[in-house]
Amino acid sequence: MAKTSKYVYFFGKGKAEGTAEMKGLLGGKGANLAEMTNIGLPVPPGFTISTDVCTYYYKHGNSHPKILKKEVETALATVEKAMGAKFGDATNPLLVSVRSGARASMPGMMDTVLNLGLNNVTLGGLIKKTNNERFVYDSYRRFVQMYGDVVLGLKPAHKDDIDPFEAIIEQKKREKGVHFDTELTADDLKDLVVRFKTAVKERTGRDFPEDPMDQLWGAIGAVFGSWMNDRAIAYRKLYDIPEWWGTAVNVQTMVFGNMGEDSGTGVGFTRDPATGENVFYGEYLMNAQGEDVVAGIRTPLPISRMAEQNPKIYAELEKYRQILEKHYREMMDIEFTIQQGTLYMLQCRVGKRTAFAEIKIAVDMVQQKLISEKEAISRVHPDQLNQLLRPIFDLKEKEAAVKGGRLLVKGLNAGPGAATGRVVFNAHDAEAWAKRGEHVILTRVETSPEDIRGMNAAEGILTARGGMTSHAALVARQMGKVCVAGCSGLDIDYNSHTMRVNGTEIKEGDWISIDGTTGEVISGKINTRPSEVLQVLIDKTLDPTDAPVYQEFEKIMKWADKFRTLKIRTNADQPDQAVNAVAFGAQGIGLCRTEHMFFGEGKIGPMREMILADTVAERKAALAKLLPLQRKDFEGILEAMNGRPVTIRTIDPPLHEFVPHEEAAQRDLAQQMGISYEKVKQRVDSLHEFNPMLGFRGCRLGIIYPEITEMQSRAIFEAAAEVKKRGIPVEPEVMIPLVGNVKELQHQEQIVRSVAEEVMKEQGVKFPYLVGTMIEIPRGAVTADEIARVAEFFSFGTNDLTQTTLGVSRDDAGRFLLPYVEKDIYAKDPFEVIDRIGVGAVMKIAVEKGRGVRPNLKLGICGEHGGDPSSIEFCHMIGLNYVSCSPFRVPIARLAAARAALMNAGGSGKAARTMHSKRHLERQPARKR
Ligand code: PEP
Ligand code: MG
Repeated sequence: MAKTSKYVYFFGKGKAEGTAEMKGLLGGKGANLAEMTNIGLPVPPGFTISTDVCTYYYKHGNSHPKILKKEVETALATVEKAMGAKFGDATNPLLVSVRSGARASMPGMMDTVLNLGLNNVTLGGLIKKTNNERFVYDSYRRFVQMYGDVVLGLKPAHKDDIDPFEAIIEQKKREKGVHFDTELTADDLKDLVVRFKTAVKERTGRDFPEDPMDQLWGAIGAVFGSWMNDRAIAYRKLYDIPEWWGTAVNVQTMVFGNMGEDSGTGVGFTRDPATGENVFYGEYLMNAQGEDVVAGIRTPLPISRMAEQNPKIYAELEKYRQILEKHYREMMDIEFTIQQGTLYMLQCRVGKRTAFAEIKIAVDMVQQKLISEKEAISRVHPDQLNQLLRPIFDLKEKEAAVKGGRLLVKGLNAGPGAATGRVVFNAHDAEAWAKRGEHVILTRVETSPEDIRGMNAAEGILTARGGMTSHAALVARQMGKVCVAGCSGLDIDYNSHTMRVNGTEIKEGDWISIDGTTGEVISGKINTRPSEVLQVLIDKTLDPTDAPVYQEFEKIMKWADKFRTLKIRTNADQPDQAVNAVAFGAQGIGLCRTEHMFFGEGKIGPMREMILADTVAERKAALAKLLPLQRKDFEGILEAMNGRPVTIRTIDPPLHEFVPHEEAAQRDLAQQMGISYEKVKQRVDSLHEFNPMLGFRGCRLGIIYPEITEMQSRAIFEAAAEVKKRGIPVEPEVMIPLVGNVKELQHQEQIVRSVAEEVMKEQGVKFPYLVGTMIEIPRGAVTADEIARVAEFFSFGTNDLTQTTLGVSRDDAGRFLLPYVEKDIYAKDPFEVIDRIGVGAVMKIAVEKGRGVRPNLKLGICGEHGGDPSSIEFCHMIGLNYVSCSPFRVPIARLAAARAALMNAGGSGKAARTMHSKRHLERQPARKR
């Protein structure tokens, strides 16, 4: 990052030194506070300490640049002037909040301190100023509690332990015989402060700091320090947020929502973040501070209630909602506070939302002419489409469960979708259970940032407290997790690992089902059903006109198709897969692995006979049995693809994969074949290879046994002739695997072409066809100019190309590749995301050399990377014609291709955006069968 000499940026009184564009330097929060100030929204004055200071802090042994002190003092003086109050003043004290703010939002991951500046001296001034002793002591006890936790490190010692400050509050309430914090008097709160400070002294051996400047620097240091806490690190890893970004620190004048019934605080979204509906969506609490809403300690009221309770403030908020949407052309997430009847905006940022909402908002905003179709495409992340393709409960089963009295309770529908799993009561268990393959529902009174890993591991999240904007709700939506929040009917006992729900006891490990779309919590397991989109496109059980989500999906897909230049094909070996893929928008088959067909009905027997044959005659006899079976398969596929190109690959895997290795199965096979068991065993043993992936496979099979290629070519072309005769156009492309030397391809090409000629003559029909090759070993890539003289197309087999370029076995990589990724040796699993620098460079050589001799060479990819958004972008950048991926990833690929085209318009070769989610609806294993 470019070094700037300025570290501190002031905002306030309608003018800010920063803007929304300066997120890198000021963090998202700081940049938006500046922007809101500049567009005239009422923002309490403050200043932002830039992320450069964070970088400096970690580079220089947790210290600040020298000049910072002066810059902070100057900015603080400007704030004091703007507010007409003084930091640490006995009569008119200024209080501030100190908050983190990274470039990307990391909700709750880093630290915050509120009410800073309070001490035994300023306290009196504030009491005089507000004439509200209880309020001041309440603020003071909150400050000591937060500061004690965040800066001085007084935290629960164990995951099941209660917070040490909360323990003191509980004790006090017990002594007073009251239930709620609000029942504590000013004297009680005063006493709490004393007890808190004693606890601080006992646990840390240090006095609680009285000097406001000491407090301020302590808090600034703690916020920078929190950039490196465990949860922030885990969060960054999960969302690919680079460590070097650092956080900014925002120091801002405190405004109070807890100054009585004319004060309050709230959070909101300019549209519904779950559904995307264009309504003002939010929650507020009167006489409360922001943390009460976010932490879910009290369940807030819906913002619509404010329209009745306080129409003036509501109208003002509604006005700002409109201003913000017009200005940012985005759905925004806001935080506000009302202090004694005056509204202040404390934060705005682009609102997190579900995939459903993302798509609806994008489509609606295009219709409102707020954004263009191109912008809509760039906003919807391809992985978000996964959420649209997510399962919902089997309706009948769910109805039966509800009728049968299994509906336990209803909470808030915080994260849509259906999840079923076994109850666990802490994040640690969620992670551990999920690791051993269990589906779990993480059930908590409320969640906190410490729970992030467990939330990620769970199928769904259920909480007893908190609203739609509580931590659980926000994070679940962001992760795309099913979530039911604020389910007050749950009485959870962490100690006994049980909960009671309306008289029913649920123990750890019991099954429950949660519906994040309706908020229902149901005991037992309920099967799930495919999403609306799948019901329309695949099952054909739903009419598109009854499927609003599908309609939006369809619009986005249409726009994506307008902008993408890559074609999208699919990897399919069966007609039904081909049909699904076409429904998802596939424009051809990029890879039909013929060997997959041999495991189908009646084929494995003759296949084994062929492999175990002793003579050419025996092998030909077995192949003759296979021919009609393969032909039928190809007919089905060619018919389903209805004239779209179909790339069929000749046999590829090592032959030992097709024969039985256990004695019993070998004896059965011997009997079927009418030969001795010993003979079968001896032939199977002879197929053994030390390194089959680099052994007798790919085109090597067809070269040693040309009759196999002959039979497969015949099956393909006879099927093509037959389908063509039925009036259906065909476009077969025969692909030879694992070619590293042009002579291998020439050998196979001759067989394929002579069979094609023969079949056309025999059948009396002509059809177009191509012969091409996989590029999947480096020698093939670097001699692509020679190979392209023969091949009419290349398809990059990036599974093998990654294996052979990296010298990393596809089958054995698991043991070390994940640690490699954790150690950042590879940023991503190279079998999932193309290693652009290594494998990508080899691909580029092949593209350039291939097109150098055959300018119209058709280029595609059929390795697993063909369904990965970042890899798709790379394929776009190097000029491939198509990508091919599994059927369920076709929509994702369509969108990814459009985004790649838009992001790389004008050949700028702009670097790929980081791809976030690790989840895919379907991922074919990269390893060989
Ligand atoms: C590849 O290697 O990328 C490929 C598509 O072939 P297979 O996975 O069948 O080896
Ligand atoms: Mg391969």
